[in-house]
Amino acid sequence: MYRTNNCGELNISNVGSKVTLAGWVLRSRDLGGMTFIDLRDRYGITQVTFNMDEEAALCQKAMELGREFVIRVSGTVVERSSKNPKMPTGDIEIKASELDILNPSLVPPFTIEDSTDGGDDIRMKYRYLDLRRNPVKEKIMLRHRMAQETRKYLDGNGFIEVETPVLIKSTPEGARDFVVPSRMNPGEFYALPQSPQTFKQLLMVSGLDKYFQIVKCFRDEDLRADRQPEFTQIDCEMSFVEREDILSTFEGLVKHLFTTVKGIDIPVLERMSYTEAMEKYGNDKPDLRFGMLINNLAPVAKGKGFKVFDDAESILAIVVPGSSEYTRKELDALTEWVKRPQIGMTGLIYLKCNSDGSLKSSVDKFFSPEDLAAWKELVSANDGDLVLVLAGSKNKTVKAMSELRLEMGDRLGLRNPNEYRCCWVLDFPLLEKDEVSGRWHAMHHPFTSANPDDANLLTTDPGKVRANAYDMVINGVEVGGGSIRIHDKQLQKKMFELLGFSDDEAQAQFGFLMNAFEYGAPPHGGIAFGFDRLCSLFGGTETIRDFIAFPKNNAGRDVMIDSPSPLTVEQLKELNISVNK
Ligand code: ASP
Repeated sequence: MYRTNNCGELNISNVGSKVTLAGWVLRSRDLGGMTFIDLRDRYGITQVTFNMDEEAALCQKAMELGREFVIRVSGTVVERSSKNPKMPTGDIEIKASELDILNPSLVPPFTIEDSTDGGDDIRMKYRYLDLRRNPVKEKIMLRHRMAQETRKYLDGNGFIEVETPVLIKSTPEGARDFVVPSRMNPGEFYALPQSPQTFKQLLMVSGLDKYFQIVKCFRDEDLRADRQPEFTQIDCEMSFVEREDILSTFEGLVKHLFTTVKGIDIPVLERMSYTEAMEKYGNDKPDLRFGMLINNLAPVAKGKGFKVFDDAESILAIVVPGSSEYTRKELDALTEWVKRPQIGMTGLIYLKCNSDGSLKSSVDKFFSPEDLAAWKELVSANDGDLVLVLAGSKNKTVKAMSELRLEMGDRLGLRNPNEYRCCWVLDFPLLEKDEVSGRWHAMHHPFTSANPDDANLLTTDPGKVRANAYDMVINGVEVGGGSIRIHDKQLQKKMFELLGFSDDEAQAQFGFLMNAFEYGAPPHGGIAFGFDRLCSLFGGTETIRDFIAFPKNNAGRDVMIDSPSPLTVEQLKELNISVNK
């Protein structure tokens, strides 16, 4: 038998028991005559002692154990003379009477401790060792809990889990596909799914009524810091539903997860239209943990002879509470911050509302004290506040102001990762125009239906049509999104037409779905949550990588298995892929 107990469960009530434990040597200390081993497994750490006077040979063997050796120890549970109240097993230790080395270990390339000396790269290369460390292991366990609770809730609400294929068909919509050559069909390729969207809709045509899947999706996008080429979604679809049904079902899911996983009771989700989110937060993913809403300063700042403002399409301001004491140096640094290429503004204008009631701005030359007082009033600033103003072209200024707001929120410590503010963002535009090609694109995807109130605008003014779509946003992060779908073939055809598909293209790429719509497709809708991201939010850190057992690095590589990697000439030949050598 390898073990009678695990390394995390023995306590004072077990004193006197004979036990056998197995695990890894975390560390050993040799204190002249006594050798102490901290033995670790998934469940915890237990101290084991070897006494030179009583068991000389055994003690000798223990002294030779290296870090991360895998051992089995038998002995008696005894009460410790110096207890460690920080450890669940800290009241006891095992007085060893037998020791087997099950497998030795090389010296690990970094310490397997909560705070390790290993850098990112080495830990990724030896991910299996990194996973032995508590903070890393706990994130994987949190993910497991989230997945189980998701299944529990959805199963309890009548959803059935269905697996959809991984080898599917490439379509040019959306992101780039990862493709897989087909050996048996020379010159032809499968694509890996960017999401099971069309399959889950077909399952509704099949009458399965409520579907879900915790599913891998693949997108060959240029990588950003928090993106993984393969990621996991909680993918769901329901029949005979309207928007309200979806919102309440999935608000229920998120509430269930917060209660069961975090022990937090979240309030009813706020709802905000896309337009309101853009106006107040400059962002369709509003972080509601703090205010600092965006104000349009144009009515009081334009037409006063200050060229920067007079030429600007947008003049936006935020009020940073209690920050009027910002020094010249700090303001200069902030100005540099907005001038960085990522933000791209040409400057930053400020108004200090000093606590003595006086006003000081960076544009005193152009604006009278009365003008500045009007600014203060329009943005509802108090004495002691700092008003920050950006001006320029509309889209750029909105985006920059949103970034500045988040930055100031960070600086003021207003974005606590352990506080959760969840909301629905509704009424997105159905379509957006690509400025370069002049073509309409579906903002969500081409299967999304229009808000029923706007359906008549589809042919007359497509840009004004609101989508029957919704995003769930938690702390400024989009965690999920979906829509009520089109279920009528003619309407779906019209949508493809609007998106610039020829009849033949639409038929070749999505004919299977449109044909299915002719056999009694029920009204349906759904949503998908980014599971990795949801886990990282619940874990209170931003990097989704940490919540994936074997993630890719920022260049899309798995440095542990060294992938992607070249194929042999033989393999390529077999796949009918010619190589330029
Ligand atoms: N398939 C969509 C996505 O991946 C989500 C949905 O509409 O259900 O974003």
